[in-house]
Formats: sequence, C-alpha cells, structure tokens
Amino acid sequence: MSELQRVVSEIVDEMRAREDRGEVATYISELARVDPRQFGLAVIDAEGNVAAAGDCDVPFSIQSISKVFTLTLALGKVGDRLWRRVGREPSGSPFNSIVQLERERGIPRNPFINAGAIVVTDVILSGHQPREALGEILRFMQFLGQDASITIDSAVAASEQRTGFRNRALANYMKSFDAIENTVDFVLGAYFHHCAIAMSCRQLATAGRFLAHLGRNPETGFSVVQPERARRINALMLTCGHYDGSGEFAYRVGLPGKSGVGGGIFAVAPGKASIAVWSPGLDASGNSHLGRLALEELAKRLGWSIFG
Ligand code: GLN
Repeated sequence: MSELQRVVSEIVDEMRAREDRGEVATYISELARVDPRQFGLAVIDAEGNVAAAGDCDVPFSIQSISKVFTLTLALGKVGDRLWRRVGREPSGSPFNSIVQLERERGIPRNPFINAGAIVVTDVILSGHQPREALGEILRFMQFLGQDASITIDSAVAASEQRTGFRNRALANYMKSFDAIENTVDFVLGAYFHHCAIAMSCRQLATAGRFLAHLGRNPETGFSVVQPERARRINALMLTCGHYDGSGEFAYRVGLPGKSGVGGGIFAVAPGKASIAVWSPGLDASGNSHLGRLALEELAKRLGWSIFG
C-alpha cells in the first residue's frame, strides 16, 4: 500500500468514527434525505495514482462545486470581460446573502456566492437555449471526469426549483439592475440543474486535475485553461470558495477549495494533487464539517499547505 493510500485510509477511518457530523442541508428537500454517515475521500497525485477510501464511488450532489467549472466555461467564453459583471473579493457573507447587492448595484462580490454564480450561468446561457447550455456544462463535466455516465439528479433539481425562493429573489433583484441578460426562469433553471450534477469523489478529483497542474491534465496532456487562468481560479477558491468560512478554511487547511451544500469539497494541492471529499453534514457556514476536518488532517500529514 502506498504512503498516500495509507494516510487516506487512516483519515477515512478516523472521520467515520466521529460523532460530530454537522447537519445535512434541509432547504433543498432531496438533500435532507441523504444519510449523514456516508464519508468518501479520493486523492489523485501528479503521476495519476489514485488513493481513495470510504464512499469514494458514491455519487453525491456537487451543488456549489459546479461553480468552479461553470466559471471555467464562462471565462473560456468571454475571458476577462466577465469581471465587468462579477467581482473577485471575498464577501464575508453567507452563500445566499442579498445585502451587498443593493449597494453594489447588482454586481455580485465573487463568482462563488450564489448571486455571482447565477451571473456566470447567465453568461453561459447567452446565445443558447437552456437545454443546450446545460448540455454543454454536463458534457464538460463528463469530459473532465472521464466518465460519460455522469448525470444530473433531476429530483434534486426539481426540489430546488420548488423551494429556491432566495435564489429567485437574488436573480430578480439583479435583473432589476440589468445585471442578468436572459429570462430569469431560464437562468435559474440552468443554475439549479448544474448544481444538481451528481458525481463521486473519484470523478470529481479526476475532473479537477487541471487546476492542480497549471491548467493541464498531466496524464492525458489535455490543456483545459492557460496556467495563468488556473492560478487565478485557485486564488478565487482560496479567498471565496467557502463563503464566510473561507478565512477559516485557509487558516486550517491552507489549500484552495470549493464546497457545496451536498457536503462535498473539492481542493487542490498545486503541483501535487487533486482532492475530493464528501461528508453530508454541514457546519454553520454551509460547508462540510468532517470534510474540512479531513482536509485539514490530509494537508497536515502530507505537508501540503500552500503556506509552507
Ligand atoms: N444550489 C445551492 C443553492 O443555490 C448551492 C449552494 C451551495 O452549495 N452552497 O442554494
């Protein structure tokens, strides 16, 4: 067994033994039904060795982790013009907060809070039918995850369509500032559906490899983005990837990462590894409680913090 696999297995055993799991998200009814005892971890190093344990092959709702990939697509489409419509500063507010939007006239603080991600989805949607835009996002995930069986969980998407009142408010409010180009319902439909993509830790760690290696998957040699863009997406994950928990995540883990309310966290150790962890119970900021603890242990034991 490799050293990396030993550490990964050890951490999974330790996390599974813990009683403090946080609370599963309940505002999306389908997520409230997920068994909080599940725990998965997958790490892929630069050589392509996979160390994985626990429920690492169980698909879960990636939710806001999808925002990393929609941001990548939107930047590919409009380049730096995106930054006229969304900022690059941490918000210090919850993921679904509306307060800053009035003062900042419909320009969300960053692409990872819901308002910012809705603008990113709007950018991808422009010039397309919702179905085409969604197909583009899903195919991108299947391509990066190297698995054509990756799908959208339509029950999760439908339950968020029913209860996503906050996101509806955010999108309509931005529309009032002309910050949204397309029909609000279409933008939200695409947003809810890309959040409902289901992937396992192994698929997610595979999909994110390009961000750990200067924009390129080191195994296939396929370049997804330029090195500079990968660096910048990582910078945004570090500063904004965990909403008002971003400072704490940087302090404790020291890696760029993006969480989702499905309990997943995707993280990168630049030049070293792509990582995905899943534990459905969340902390008060909506980030996976044990997922963060596991990443903290992983980064500590392997000396992977980007801060030395
Ligand atoms: N779809 C979720 C929402 O919009 C995503 C939030 C999250 O994962 N933090 O509320």
